[in-house]
Amino acid sequence: MDGPVPYCAVCSKFLMLCECDNIPRGQGIVYESPQPSHQEKLEKLTHFGATVVEKSYGHFAGHDIVRDLLKSKFIQVLQKNEKRLKEMVMEYTKKEKELLRKLRIEEHELATVCQEAYSKFIDFDWVEMTSIEYVLLNNAFQISDPRKYPLHDKELKAIFDAITIGNQAIAHCPDIPKTLLASLSHQ
Ligand SMILES: [Zn+2]
Repeated sequence: MDGPVPYCAVCSKFLMLCECDNIPRGQGIVYESPQPSHQEKLEKLTHFGATVVEKSYGHFAGHDIVRDLLKSKFIQVLQKNEKRLKEMVMEYTKKEKELLRKLRIEEHELATVCQEAYSKFIDFDWVEMTSIEYVLLNNAFQISDPRKYPLHDKELKAIFDAITIGNQAIAHCPDIPKTLLASLSHQ
């Protein structure tokens, strides 16, 4: 099993097991690649640290961010919480009726974008994430049920903080469509 595997973006099931109605053929599909190894994640994280410094004009000390994340065993923490995070993101796409209307998109389209954001995040492809993807993950946290996903849970908090770091780092880059960001933001 190497190479990307297709999943339904709406129900998150392997495509052959999906029973969702009303999704146009060939849409609402996300491809998940096999997970990178710990070493690969480490390299990606280091790359993120170096890139962030460069892109954000020194607003962030990327090396310090990476050092702190590694000290707190963030790679392991994220891996341990993948399922939870995915569930949260799935719930989020169902809650965003207002946003769907505003952007004139269907639920499966939002689900696809959110799932891609989720996949990139857990694979540590943080450099490749767009600000919109960070904002969506951030929103997923903000709107989540605090009883189910309490932010005094240290691991969830660490993940939320990492999303915020990524979001802020990318937001300091000059090439961002700010208006689109504003329409997405819940803060
Ligand atoms: Zn489905």
